[in-house]
Amino acid sequence: HDGQIRDGEIHDGGSLAPEETPEGIEVRGLEKSFGATPVLEGVDLDVAPGTVTVLMGPSGSGKSTLLRCLNLLETPQAGRVRIGEDEIEFGAPLRRGRAAALRRHSAMVFQSHQLFPHRTALENLMEGPVHAQRRPRAEVEVEARALLERVGLAPKADAYPDQLSGGQQQRVGIARALALRPRVLLFDEPTSALDPETVGEVLAVIRDLAAEGRTMVVVTHEVRFARDVADHVVFLDGGVVVEQGPPGQVLVEPRHERTRAFLGRIL
Ligand code: ADP
Ligand code: MG
Repeated sequence: HDGQIRDGEIHDGGSLAPEETPEGIEVRGLEKSFGATPVLEGVDLDVAPGTVTVLMGPSGSGKSTLLRCLNLLETPQAGRVRIGEDEIEFGAPLRRGRAAALRRHSAMVFQSHQLFPHRTALENLMEGPVHAQRRPRAEVEVEARALLERVGLAPKADAYPDQLSGGQQQRVGIARALALRPRVLLFDEPTSALDPETVGEVLAVIRDLAAEGRTMVVVTHEVRFARDVADHVVFLDGGVVVEQGPPGQVLVEPRHERTRAFLGRIL
């Protein structure tokens, strides 16, 4: 069955801290409507630990909604989501603490960075770990500075978002997600709001994260990036998974007419 990811595709996660051990994701029968409008109509998704899944599909197909359901920015009406050992079944009343446990595993990077405008780059990274996770400020600061260095922005620690380019802001956004020590990273069109010349610097950071064995789900229309980096490509249309498989199959020899038509439009 071409939806399965085999163990051999798992990357070496050597450089990750123990608390960041990548987890797998399992989604079954996910249904989400807004009012009377169904947006996800029974989505199944498997992401093996340490692998990169690229999610593609036309505008309005439900990609953002699916990502938002994975970290509970939206609550589905039915189905279930498991990340690592933590699982939530929707439809039944949520057990106390369950949602928080699931949400803790993932961090999201949005199309536009959504940094706090009146905080420096460093303060943006420290906000979540210090206030939401209640970790010691001194320890968080050391880690935050190392993360800024990692995304090539150590010299910009004291800069405010409006003093940074779009690509730099987005790299701060990625570092801010990493500061939460997530086991799963979710990217929602991380480069689509960027000037063409800055897309590469952001994709390079994402590639680097893939290489260290992070579990990632990336919504993007960057086909070349998907071919190089994805272990698995999922094509969503009309709230259902139309086709999925390795990038060399879905992007090169798509089986479904809707996938072919979509790729024909964006290539
Ligand atoms: P994509 O990310 O693939 O472009 P979305 O998940 O953003 O698609 O949206 C899928 C559909 O759900 C669209 O028709 C959109 O208008 C609708 N939708 C998304 N969020 C909301 C919301 N908060 N309220 C009402 N409709 C929404
Ligand atoms: Mg979207």
